[in-house]
Amino acid sequence: MEASNTSASASPSATLRVYSTLSKTKEPFVTVVPGQVGIYLCGPTVYKEAHIGHMVGPVIFDAIKRYLTHCGYKVKWVVNITDVDDKLINEANRRGVAMSQVAEENTADYLANLRSLGVDQIDAMPKATEHIEEIKSFVSDLIDKGFAYASGGDVFFDVAKDSQYGKLSNRSADEQQGEGGEAASKKRSPGDFALWKSAKPGEPSWDSPWGPGRPGWHIECSAMSRRLLGETFDIHGGGLDLVFPHHENEMAQSECCHGKPMVRYWLHNGLMRAASAGKVGGRSDREQTDKEQAGEATVDTKISRSKGAGGLADLIRRQTGERLRFFLLRTHYRTTIVFSEEGIQEAGVALDTFHRFFARWKRATGKDFYQLPRIASRSEGEIDPQGDPLLTEVAERRRGYLAKMDDDFNTGGAVSELFELLRVLNRYMDQHGLDQPAAASAEPLRSLERGVAALRELTALLGLFFQAPGLPDTEDQALVGKLVELLIELRTESRKKKDFATADRVRQGLASIGIQLEDRKDGTGWRIER
Ligand SMILES: [Zn+2]
Repeated sequence: MEASNTSASASPSATLRVYSTLSKTKEPFVTVVPGQVGIYLCGPTVYKEAHIGHMVGPVIFDAIKRYLTHCGYKVKWVVNITDVDDKLINEANRRGVAMSQVAEENTADYLANLRSLGVDQIDAMPKATEHIEEIKSFVSDLIDKGFAYASGGDVFFDVAKDSQYGKLSNRSADEQQGEGGEAASKKRSPGDFALWKSAKPGEPSWDSPWGPGRPGWHIECSAMSRRLLGETFDIHGGGLDLVFPHHENEMAQSECCHGKPMVRYWLHNGLMRAASAGKVGGRSDREQTDKEQAGEATVDTKISRSKGAGGLADLIRRQTGERLRFFLLRTHYRTTIVFSEEGIQEAGVALDTFHRFFARWKRATGKDFYQLPRIASRSEGEIDPQGDPLLTEVAERRRGYLAKMDDDFNTGGAVSELFELLRVLNRYMDQHGLDQPAAASAEPLRSLERGVAALRELTALLGLFFQAPGLPDTEDQALVGKLVELLIELRTESRKKKDFATADRVRQGLASIGIQLEDRKDGTGWRIER
């Protein structure tokens, strides 16, 4: 095939392989333009507040972009905002406000949640309502080329004209969408889908050659991805629930319009569902997983607002954005993520083993892990152990991590390698007595520092540990910090006076609200156990 004929040396990461839903295989990663990657991820329809399920794709693709950039690619990542749609119109009517207000409020909520989860790699977030002219010209092109027809103020894609229709979702013509919906009488065939929808009285609309109306959902993505990434781009992402009809239809529109492949690699993330899945979708866990592994489009049993643990903002407040991010990256992106607050809690306990190591390392070296300089590229991060036993092990773990990421962005496998690396570093500190800086000789400390630099490099690729947990980043938290320090001071004074009852009461009282004290030679430290 075309991809494998291209010289591998032109690719910054010749070892990367990516699973595409279209070919159902892992393919060598070869980009349209050598050294550059265009990614389009279908974003939210902003009619309600975001829930945790909406964060799965952004967090995964944020890590994918960081990784590709580290490998030396120049990456452009686009996430669209669907701000005109039946759901938005219904919500605006229900609340008695303008559709634009509904869109603005929920877009702001979505963006705030992305920030909380450390998603900061997106390059463009085009809105459908800002691309109406492009969308209309795309629709006109499809009509001119004979792939679409106007009917009673609507425009439909003529599925029968596309001999390849169904190739992404593996559907035959008679499995195509249902009875045709409310516009059935205007369609040539029930499987035809709307490119342009005529406006009902009072609905938001734009003038067009076919009468006032608004774009269909699928055409937005074809028009905006072409505008920002070109007619053929590298990676198209989205949840498994988008394979059909959304991505099948996007591909049909773009490929019929341009006469060339729309996308090199179709990446679909598994959906999230509540731990009590039977109640959500009525499917057994096994059945769902099998179908998702087979790459079939599944009926969505993803988590919904009603099944989630309250709003996402509340969940972030309870658990922190970093915990949620880590929770989402612990599994392979193509598998189902089973949501439970206990699961997130567990992820937090696992994360704390890193936080404790960072504190230990700071005590030994005085250096702040969170402020360490970043290693900018994969080649810069290469380690030459020169016979150093620690660095030999670190280099091995780093190779393991990169191999996992090269294998279809297996962040779950990469996380396992991070835990191994952490174990190696902790053991080395034990063996060399590096907890007391004065006693440590310079050489083991230098090796340790190089090992920790690798840990910084690899954790940064997952977007983790850019800020210390529980550090004061608001006035309230700063106040909490001062109060805890005051209590520690009182406890220390009590102990000096041999008033151990009071000292214990302070320690236990703080523990009962989640603040753990750690007595060390150089004083008493504290951390928040979430
Ligand atoms: Zn889309």
